Amino acid sequence: MTDPRKILVTSALPYANGPIHLGHLVEYIQTDIWVRFQKMRGHQCHYVCADDTHGTPIMLRAEKEGISAEDLIARVHGEHYRDFQGFHVEFDNYYTTHSEETRTYAATIYQRLQERGLIESRAIEQYYDPVKEMFLPDRFIKGECPKCHAKDQYGDSCEVCGTTYTPTDLINPYSAVSGAAPVRKESVHYFFKLSDPICQQFLRKWTTGQLTERPPLQPEAANKMQEWLGAEGENRLSDWDISRDAPYFGFEIPDAPGKYFYVWLDAPVGYMGSFQNLCNKKPLPPTPLPSGERGFSLPSPASGRGVGGEGYLNFNDFWSKDSKTELYHFIGKDILYFHALFWPAMLEHSDFRTPTNIFAHGFLTVNGEKMSKSRGTFITAESYLKQGLNPEWLRYYYACKLNGSMEDLDLNLEDFVARVNSDLVGKYINIASRTAGFVTKHFGGRLLGVEIGVGGLEEGLDPLVDALRNAREEIAEFYAARDYGKALRKIMELADQVNFYVNEKKPWELAKKPDAIGQLHIVCSITLNLFRQLTIYLKPILPKLTVEVEQFLNIKPLLWSDLHSTLPESHQINPYQHLMTRIEAKQIEALVEANKPNLQATEQPEPHSEQRHAEHQQHAIQPIADTIGIEEFAKIDLRIARIVKAEHVEKADKLLKLTLDIGEAQPRTVFAGIKSAYDPAQLEGKLTVMVANLAPRKMKFGLSEGMVLAASDERGGPFVLFPDQGAQPGMRIK
Ligand SMILES: [Zn+2]
Repeated sequence: MTDPRKILVTSALPYANGPIHLGHLVEYIQTDIWVRFQKMRGHQCHYVCADDTHGTPIMLRAEKEGISAEDLIARVHGEHYRDFQGFHVEFDNYYTTHSEETRTYAATIYQRLQERGLIESRAIEQYYDPVKEMFLPDRFIKGECPKCHAKDQYGDSCEVCGTTYTPTDLINPYSAVSGAAPVRKESVHYFFKLSDPICQQFLRKWTTGQLTERPPLQPEAANKMQEWLGAEGENRLSDWDISRDAPYFGFEIPDAPGKYFYVWLDAPVGYMGSFQNLCNKKPLPPTPLPSGERGFSLPSPASGRGVGGEGYLNFNDFWSKDSKTELYHFIGKDILYFHALFWPAMLEHSDFRTPTNIFAHGFLTVNGEKMSKSRGTFITAESYLKQGLNPEWLRYYYACKLNGSMEDLDLNLEDFVARVNSDLVGKYINIASRTAGFVTKHFGGRLLGVEIGVGGLEEGLDPLVDALRNAREEIAEFYAARDYGKALRKIMELADQVNFYVNEKKPWELAKKPDAIGQLHIVCSITLNLFRQLTIYLKPILPKLTVEVEQFLNIKPLLWSDLHSTLPESHQINPYQHLMTRIEAKQIEALVEANKPNLQATEQPEPHSEQRHAEHQQHAIQPIADTIGIEEFAKIDLRIARIVKAEHVEKADKLLKLTLDIGEAQPRTVFAGIKSAYDPAQLEGKLTVMVANLAPRKMKFGLSEGMVLAASDERGGPFVLFPDQGAQPGMRIK
């Protein structure tokens, strides 16, 4: 093996304003598997994370509960940490952004950017609550939906008809905090000048991998960046608002009283803060500060802490500009714009290192649809554990589905039960449960020495043994590429081969023949050695089960390098106890039931972290297509259509079949890729917009006679278009 690599890994910081749910866990489980794999390979790998604790939602919720913001975030921190532990997500440090470490780095970055002329202040207008005397985020303005006239809708979207709009569109808007009518008010905000040519030039090079050994982004993400950056010479990036006015729960900007750092300048800095905190727990005696070439007055925790030795960690090793270590951010695709543009530009120009790679993943759907509170598929981590479901079932299933891309991941509850039962329990666990008992009963728990790879023990066995051993690099590459789905397919294929071997040898029959007892000993010893090999392969995904296997096999914690060895002659194992049970369908039904809204406690939907990050995604400008003349536009015949019928299409993951009335004798059939966002029942009877003169297209499921219009990008969607009241089927849109 080459020298151990030094790796720092982060997951996105969950917002301290809501529970961890199965959607969050896609990311943390994905990261944890990767980190465990790197550690098993003998690398120095540190996994840090923290709660994202600042902002108006936290401040107001604490007020509502009558406690301090500090008490609120401490409580939520405990809940989050408990849930992560429950799913065996093992951070090296799980910290908080409300820390001195984070405050110091936020200030350092801010000051360095300011020195470079990359911070600017200017006055902007925002909604203001004159009673509460605070500026209001969109989510805290409510009013009547301008489309369907539902009352009490949020300032960004209607929960009844799904329309999105700006707070100015609301009828009779009011502050959700005080009830007062909001007014427009001017205030000075601070901006990071992402539009500055030096940022643009840097990002053009960085996102295309010209500044690093390897490209720092997945190909699909890199393409997205080129779209966002536009062609050479274009300036599509806008400056980012990094401040909020008091009252606010967060860090005050050092030279701007009453102004606070907004999410972008403290949440991701929490990665650094959490790592610094980890370094503080494993310190070396402080060395004198390097001479202050930049002349900062701030105490800089980035100053050297001596050379990192065995068991010691040095912040600069991992974050200084010339760092030779690796830094990986696991994130959801919704915050890609921020992590791939804003964050590297900020780090680069404040003299810190940039990420080695950003690993973005898709969202979780349940049974092919968005997680939904009313359907009971908005499942919290806590409820999953409380219902007594095994967290490793979910880790295994997510791993089956993860492939290192930004595609969404579907938790199909039926498939979940089937795969765990047939593969994990039926194939892998089965190997041990079919053979271990004989070893205890007939051989006092002692195994024969099996020299895997040397061969000769048994005719025809070498190919199986070789197959298991030789798969190690292939499986390692799948893990490294976060393609756990392929790793598991390979591992289960090997488990099939081992089971085939056991079926051939029939130890249960050998056990009945006194003259075959020696043969029985050989077969069981070989099988349990192969089981041990499979366990090494599965260990990153199933850490707790592996500990139980290690106890049963009476061995030290397994490492990847243990694939080269076998158990010694006369190795003593412990009596086998059942390692894992099957899932019963009724456990899943109970879980869904438990997550359905409870009428006594209709909880107000709170802006959660996705929304907090999404708030600023408005800066992501999609390139506008080439200019066309009105004649070209007129060629597209857009019509108002009534959705007469909407239905699921068997075996189609993304499509709904729509029957559309546009005033013709016969309704049209259109297959629309909107299944992830809409329930068929929700669409029936609604009006929408269709392209009526699009050439019919033969699809796997039938003929599609047109297209309905919907909006989407990395922030979400698809959002189907609905016309204003009064429009009638067949009307032309022009
Ligand atoms: Zn509405």
